[in-house]
Amino acid sequence: MHGLMQDRPLTLPHVFHRAERIFGHKSILTATVDGESRVTYAQWAERVRRLATVLDTLGVSAEARVGSFAWNTQRHLELYFAVPCTGRVLHTLNIRLFAEQLQYIVEHAGDEIVFVERSLLPLIWPLADRLPGVRHWVVIDDGADTEIPDDPRVLDYEQLLAVAEPFDGRFTVEDEDTAAALCYTSGTTGNPKGVLYSHRSTVLHSLISLTADTLGLGERDRLLPVVPMFHVNAWGLPYAAVLCGADLVFPGPAMRPGALLGLIQRHRVTVTAGVPTIWLGAVPLLGDYDLSSLRMVLGGGSAVPKSLSEAWRTGAGLPITQAWGMTETSPLATVASPRSHHDGLGAAALAGVRASQGQAVPLVDLRIVDPESGAELPWDGTAFGELQASGPWIAAAYFGGGSDANSFTGDGWLRTGDVATIDAKGFVRLVDRTKDLVKSGGEWISSVELENEIMAHPDVVEAAVIAKPDERWSERPAACVVLAEGARLGTEDIVAHLTGRVAKWWLPDEVHFIDEVPKTSTGKFSKKALRERFYPSGVLPGA
Ligand code: ADP
Repeated sequence: MHGLMQDRPLTLPHVFHRAERIFGHKSILTATVDGESRVTYAQWAERVRRLATVLDTLGVSAEARVGSFAWNTQRHLELYFAVPCTGRVLHTLNIRLFAEQLQYIVEHAGDEIVFVERSLLPLIWPLADRLPGVRHWVVIDDGADTEIPDDPRVLDYEQLLAVAEPFDGRFTVEDEDTAAALCYTSGTTGNPKGVLYSHRSTVLHSLISLTADTLGLGERDRLLPVVPMFHVNAWGLPYAAVLCGADLVFPGPAMRPGALLGLIQRHRVTVTAGVPTIWLGAVPLLGDYDLSSLRMVLGGGSAVPKSLSEAWRTGAGLPITQAWGMTETSPLATVASPRSHHDGLGAAALAGVRASQGQAVPLVDLRIVDPESGAELPWDGTAFGELQASGPWIAAAYFGGGSDANSFTGDGWLRTGDVATIDAKGFVRLVDRTKDLVKSGGEWISSVELENEIMAHPDVVEAAVIAKPDERWSERPAACVVLAEGARLGTEDIVAHLTGRVAKWWLPDEVHFIDEVPKTSTGKFSKKALRERFYPSGVLPGA
């Protein structure tokens, strides 16, 4: 028997019209090169309506992919709604990709038009002639003095909006499974792959961010998304914020720690989100700002070291809340907030809970699987295997690439490529990424845990552990360590620090002191670059 409830699609037009109608007085602020600009939701909504008309007037086709090459700004948020509310697909382009990768994904996606920030033109305009499919390049003038090419393909965002009539009436997208946004994985493993979010997945994912045990985002929040809007839709936070009418504070191009902390202080930001690298850079400055308005600092994209979260707890009064996810999971899949069964734990044990990846959010199912036998492993906190995920905002296939067996299982679960344990209460602890595991004498060593322990040394800023090829053990751990300014440590100091904290056979064989851990385009440790630098010959044959 079917239920007798109304069948209404879950689509972004609902989110837009709700915000326009009831949150018109709320504010969207953007830091600019020469100050700050602020609009109300009502003013923003009117501009979204104009932008919708612009897309039609330019002849952008009904299901077009529309590229954006932009900072976190109010104008980017205009694209976030005008594009999908008119049935088109917003393809957010990662501004840190190399030219060849950029060309590859624009071509692969079939972008018809690209909206590009003036300051970012030098990174993408040189590709224009190699991308004949892109008919229009719309320049968003962010106040930079970059030269604007004199070319018929180049248009000005504000001029287009100024002459456009605002779209009149309600946006409609009949089918909730219509694609809304496209984001390519950063390609740390092979070619970038397109993850195609639907209206339904985006709305449900936004809704989950509003639930109390997840992020609890609400109308009273002032949200500063530091994580780029080109990276998994800034973790879906802009959509969630508009759904609940939270005030938004966008950092624009100013991503320096001081600029971000200044925004938090000035605008009494309550929730902010970014990758650990950003929060690490802010640690030395925490005492210089009033951060008392913050109720949540979200960290994810790579493991949040215990020492970093603790540095925030002591320096800013709140630890970092860790979340785990991937481009393929929209990305919110787990959040590590201590639960009632942790009540009464001491500070050190709680820090340990926060250093895990946390519990799956509602509607996301997880399992761990033995990669060899394919058997599901018990949730006992020790057995580890490949983490697999399923849920309504988790990818089922890649755009134009089908559902390859390396990425999806026969029964339709996503293979995350992460290796994890799960405890009896569902707390996930990431051990490693499959390709980063160190296998020594047939036993796995968790580089994530080893890094955490090395970074607990007060003179260590960052540490990345990689596999060093070894005749006898096949692989041994090697640590690449960045020291705090002025600190002097040798290999023996790192080993002495680790002794007693980790099993003896986990102690790194080599420690490389480096100036900086190389990062990927999304700010993660690039272990590939480290392996190429220190062990270019790779794993020994037969290992
Ligand atoms: P890419 O695969 O290109 O790096 P993603 O941004 O989709 O792009 O990365 C997802 C991966 O990032 C996860 O599979 C995981 O390895 C890592 N990751 C994300 N969040 C965390 C976290 N909280 N702790 C550890 N690793 C994380």
